[in-house]
Amino acid sequence: MSNLPNCPKCQSEYTYEDGSLLVCPECAHEWTLESGAPEAEEQRTYKDANGKILTDGDTVTIIKDLKVKGSSSVLKVGTKVKNIRLVDGDHDIDCKIDGFGAMKLKSEFVKKV
Ligand SMILES: [Zn+2]
Repeated sequence: MSNLPNCPKCQSEYTYEDGSLLVCPECAHEWTLESGAPEAEEQRTYKDANGKILTDGDTVTIIKDLKVKGSSSVLKVGTKVKNIRLVDGDHDIDCKIDGFGAMKLKSEFVKKV
């Protein structure tokens, strides 16, 4: 899983991360990954439970019972959710569900219709 840069001092490829620092075990050099690295921001893709790509405006159904935070309600399997909006975050689907209002869901618990 190493896509860390080589040590800038000795070119060792065995660098590892220690918090926000990068550390070289061979020459003990420590440095930080500065911003401005030419790493292209990766476009996030959102996939449902079957690996299908989700896009804004899709209709999905829920594939497992989900507890609704802060209430005793449960979103049942098969609940249809229209017009989803994809957002960045752990819960990556913003939506409104009849009877529940605004909700956030995880894409791994839905299936594109
Ligand atoms: Zn080194």
